[in-house]
Amino acid sequence: MKVFNTITRKKEKFNPINKEFVTMYVCGPTVYDLFHIGNARTFVVFDVVRRYLEYKGYKVKFIQNFTDIDDKIINKANQEGKDISQVSERYIKHYYEDADKLNIKRATLNPRATENIKEMIDLILHLIENGFAYEVNGDVYFSIKCFSEYGKLFGQDIKTLKVGSRIEVNKNKKDPLDFILWKKSKENEPGYDSVWGKGRPGWHTECGSMIYKYFDGNTIDIHGGGGDLIFPHHENEIAQIEALTGKSLANYWMHCSFLSINDEKMSKSLNNFFTTREILSKYSSNCLRFFILSSHYRNELCYSEQQIIWAEKSLERIYKCYFSILDKEKGKIENVHDKHISEILNFKDKFIEKMDDDFNTSDGMSVIFEFIRYVNSFLFEFTSSELKYCKNILVELLDILGINIKEIVERGSKIILTEEIKNIIMQRYECKKNKDFVSADSIREKLLKMNILLEDIQDGVRVVEADTNVFVETILY
Ligand SMILES: [Zn+2]
Repeated sequence: MKVFNTITRKKEKFNPINKEFVTMYVCGPTVYDLFHIGNARTFVVFDVVRRYLEYKGYKVKFIQNFTDIDDKIINKANQEGKDISQVSERYIKHYYEDADKLNIKRATLNPRATENIKEMIDLILHLIENGFAYEVNGDVYFSIKCFSEYGKLFGQDIKTLKVGSRIEVNKNKKDPLDFILWKKSKENEPGYDSVWGKGRPGWHTECGSMIYKYFDGNTIDIHGGGGDLIFPHHENEIAQIEALTGKSLANYWMHCSFLSINDEKMSKSLNNFFTTREILSKYSSNCLRFFILSSHYRNELCYSEQQIIWAEKSLERIYKCYFSILDKEKGKIENVHDKHISEILNFKDKFIEKMDDDFNTSDGMSVIFEFIRYVNSFLFEFTSSELKYCKNILVELLDILGINIKEIVERGSKIILTEEIKNIIMQRYECKKNKDFVSADSIREKLLKMNILLEDIQDGVRVVEADTNVFVETILY
């Protein structure tokens, strides 16, 4: 199995420290708002990394933190006239609601920054004692000139980094690249007592210190996060922990590329985002996961409604194939000539080969579609044990991607789109084309009375079961 390692900039053979046990840390959300689908991409990608490792037989200790003290949380609490813990509690609750709905497996542990303040203070004290950090007026900084390997993750000579854009300008710093470990609280700002006065830890200290604590000071196998965290966040985590322990913080650094919308990165600051909750109110969790995983995690992924609808249509093909297998299974008698089994198993091997190559979900999905074409063409020939193999492999491979097919198909919509209903839908389309909107609307109302909701999309219509919001089918004109 190979993993692309950001720190060496190449694909490397994956060799965990312990042969059966993988340790993994992923930077979690700052809990001041609902997470958007760009964040969801990171969470889903690392969920699949973890699921795949577990599929391969590893036990995985997966830790993802909550940043529950931060300027954004303080601002939000001030706006609402609430305590910061009320704000963070609310968004931690919402995080779990949305992540559960998105079928993201719960982490082994989700430590919160505020529960680990003492450990962070201890870490900073150690850094000062060992000459890696210094205090100025209640703020504490890490001195990068004391850590000769600074910049190794980012992969550029640190002298070429421009101060200002990504590096905070501050006259208290000895070097512009020095970063804050402890931030003195302003008046009326929440904070914790320390030998440097009231303050709070810097974000980079949070993650570094929690990894140190929850993995007992050991090097971990995988550290993951969004690509925008490489510098300065992860670089600074490395500096603090490696300066102190003399050991690597992590052996493999994995970074997920961003989600773009209209050629821009989706982000809170650009205000061009959709929350995961918004998308999941309209589309299924399978659909959002399918869309996210259709691109390799290191490639940019562009969001558009058309892409989500494409994902929904693609899933529909998978569901239909699964349905057909179930259908054919009924009444099949056992046949001794199971000549297709090795061909069927071959698809599984091919999928695993793709996933072994740096978690290539995109190519893995192509294998699933190849498999579906294959199943559809031999459906009438398969014996009952062959059908069972097909069914189980489909469920097994999709489960690695966190796409739940069994439950969806069994729960599915009760609506069956007969030719008659399809004709009515086409009649409405004709009315719309002829600008007879009154008739088009009355057809829509008539269908709604039959529990069928139509949502117009480009070149077609999405059919949804009105009372449950369960997607039925996309009809293209
Ligand atoms: Zn982090």
